[in-house]
Amino acid sequence: MLTLSLDFGGTKLAAGLVDANTGQVFAAEQHPTPDDATSSYAAMLDMAKTLLGHAPGQVHAVGVSFGGPVEADGRTVRCSMHINGWEDAALAAWIERDISLPCAIANDADAAALAEQRYGAGRDVMHLLYLTVSTGIGGGIVIGGKLYRGARAWAGEVGHQVLDPRGPPCACGRNGCLESLASGRGVARAAKIALGALRSNLDMLQADEVPPEQHNSSLLSLPVEQITAQTVAEAAAIGDVLASIVWERAMTWLGIGIANAANVLNPALVVLGGGLTRAGALLFEPVRHIVAQRVLDPNLEIVPAALGDHIGLLGGAAIAADMPHMSE
Ligand SMILES: [Zn+2]
Repeated sequence: MLTLSLDFGGTKLAAGLVDANTGQVFAAEQHPTPDDATSSYAAMLDMAKTLLGHAPGQVHAVGVSFGGPVEADGRTVRCSMHINGWEDAALAAWIERDISLPCAIANDADAAALAEQRYGAGRDVMHLLYLTVSTGIGGGIVIGGKLYRGARAWAGEVGHQVLDPRGPPCACGRNGCLESLASGRGVARAAKIALGALRSNLDMLQADEVPPEQHNSSLLSLPVEQITAQTVAEAAAIGDVLASIVWERAMTWLGIGIANAANVLNPALVVLGGGLTRAGALLFEPVRHIVAQRVLDPNLEIVPAALGDHIGLLGGAAIAADMPHMSE
């Protein structure tokens, strides 16, 4: 079944024609995300019409992966954390009006969870938890082979479980959420604070009073704006002490957060995607170790996401195929 898949991200818009049975992407277009909802929708509609022109009459449905909370009925966007003007936008109805095809929408992490279950690391797994560990931390839940959307728009928000009430501020307005402690933004923030403390200690002491191994963090040579989760991970990988402490602490929080969610849902599989997972074993080894200490199910597996850069488009296709009248 050929679907039109639309991916509304915080930095880029993508559209593609995807075979929802196989997950094959036939044609795709991209556009930087404009800074308001009206322009974003117009840019996306242009790409959608171009793609539909390549396959007249062959596309059966539209699926949307949206970077923000979406109502559980798959019709309405609640808001976007990044782009103005999306509050209570009837996006599925707009698309059906403008391109005359049935449409369903989902939050991007929810769509990614379903895509990994249909086409990726969780193929044929009935109970799956997906986390994207990136600038923020998002989550999606598949139960019995179906996306679990909750009562309204807030299922799967594993990133906003509070783990340390006195912890750093989170984008949601609370303190000490998993996202504030273990996301890319959280890791960079913790590293900057630790480096600030190290710098002021070194300034107070005579340099020759401090043994070299205590002030040789390679991160000290970087301008502060270049401290990211990636630079922390790279420094930790070559044994930098300060970077290793910051990274291990974040991985401990991530493991605790995953174990908490797994103890509620008992998934067979946890799939981890997002930019931080590019750290590979540096992420998966400590996380698996911490989860194993805390999860009740000894058979829980934690694996990397398999769908890479096409996850957004495949998410949209999975959501299109998930519409009740599409399951032929
Ligand atoms: Zn939060």
